[in-house]
Amino acid sequence: MSGTEWETVVGLEVHCELKTATKLFCGCANSFGDEPNTNVCPVCLGLPGSLPVLNEGAVERAMRIGAALHCEVHPSVFHRKNYFYPDMPKDYQISQYDEPINVGGWLDLPDGFRVGIVRAHLEEDTGKTSHLGGDGRIHGADYSLVDYNRAGVPLVEIVSEPDIRSAAQARAYASELRAVLVAVDASDGRMEEGSLRVDANVSVRPAGSDTFGTRCEIKNLNSLRSLGRAIEHEAARQVALLESGEAVVQQTRHWDEAAARTVPLRSKEEAFDYRYFPEPDLVPLAPDAGWQAAVAGSLGLLPAQRRARLLALLDGAGDGEVSAAQADQVSAVVDQGLDDLVVAAVSGGAPARLALARAANEVAADVEAGRRLPVADFTKLVSMEGDGKLSASQSKEVLGELLGAGGGDPEAIAGQRGFEAMSADSVVAIVNEVVAAHPDEWGRFAGGDQKLMGFFVGAIRERAGSSFDGKAVSAELRRRLQEA
Ligand code: ADP
Ligand code: MG
Ligand code: ZN
Repeated sequence: MSGTEWETVVGLEVHCELKTATKLFCGCANSFGDEPNTNVCPVCLGLPGSLPVLNEGAVERAMRIGAALHCEVHPSVFHRKNYFYPDMPKDYQISQYDEPINVGGWLDLPDGFRVGIVRAHLEEDTGKTSHLGGDGRIHGADYSLVDYNRAGVPLVEIVSEPDIRSAAQARAYASELRAVLVAVDASDGRMEEGSLRVDANVSVRPAGSDTFGTRCEIKNLNSLRSLGRAIEHEAARQVALLESGEAVVQQTRHWDEAAARTVPLRSKEEAFDYRYFPEPDLVPLAPDAGWQAAVAGSLGLLPAQRRARLLALLDGAGDGEVSAAQADQVSAVVDQGLDDLVVAAVSGGAPARLALARAANEVAADVEAGRRLPVADFTKLVSMEGDGKLSASQSKEVLGELLGAGGGDPEAIAGQRGFEAMSADSVVAIVNEVVAAHPDEWGRFAGGDQKLMGFFVGAIRERAGSSFDGKAVSAELRRRLQEA
């Protein structure tokens, strides 16, 4: 089959630890990084006679996730999923099986591509095992330690349809999903702390085929980078097998980051038989319509809505199409939680593109300070720049001082620094001087050698010092070119 074009098919299972104060079925603290085995009790240790009590806050967060992903909330049932592993003290995990709380739905990626959601169900996390004395895996380890602080922490597992078609798209999905989970206050989004863990199901098929190939599932990817690399390597491995006439065997695999390859964990034949049965100690869960409506109504703006709001402001500003670079700035500003600042500045009269650019560059460089920056000060600064009272470089300097000091009056700061923007007269005067001093260069520039634009702008910048206004200078140069 060499010469065949291959298409990658991916479905993701994302485990999201919920940001509750306590665990899913007991009152133990849900807190990352505490002294091992301090947040434990008879319930989460599975001691005989203990009974689980469902955490209402976890159900509410699960419903928020469902609402944000356009799922339907269904009456649901908890099941016991039985298997033996040392990080699971009860020897079963309480999970939702064939009747999950959230069913169906979708997530739109920033480029408009829609990924279907199969389900988003509630379950408890396991404890954490660390294998010591080897390379971190159980094979070759001298001994293992287990921490039950994580056992019983609430999780929502979000299962996508196999709609994703590349490693880059899988990253975009995980990143957008992460932003949604943070926006609805379900998760802190810290992948490096294991708050989000992704299993990637990967198969390949000849492009244009309408049946799926055999898939492998790569477990526990905990960064966007690992997710992307693991999918690329796994797809390439499967293509190589198929091109040499072999078959892909359905397997669970592990991503070895250092070796940059996936290695088998277990095959379909070795798959666990989980012996699911309904959890006898919990009643079925059926949130009533009033609760569902309250949850749906309490969702704040989602990242996509925040991006759309900024794009509408740029469109409404009426100074031309939104460029690709500006669209990137919009995404970055929303990711950093700086979009409210831009929206407030624009409604206070600041020009939209300038407010966006200053937020995406100078403010984003120090997001913490940006969150403390009084909106009125930012609005005034951007308006001064928009009105030509400050050049771009002066504006950036004043903004730097505002960020450092937690606010201030931009006009006073500009005054202290002796900033005066180039007046229209002085622009013309300096351009005159510089052109007169470089007649040869001007001749070549006027003759069409665009490279000299940089030369003239540089020379004028040197003469003008801190009041240099790049926009006014290039406009004046262009005006003279047309006359020349
Ligand atoms: P399981 O219960 O064994 O995990 P599911 O049918 O629930 O199996 O699917 C799990 C995930 O695998 C889903 O995200 C789904 O989109 C994905 N998936 C299913 N078939 C394929 C395939 N052929 N290629 C890639 N992903 C797939
Ligand atoms: Mg699965
Ligand atoms: Zn407990």
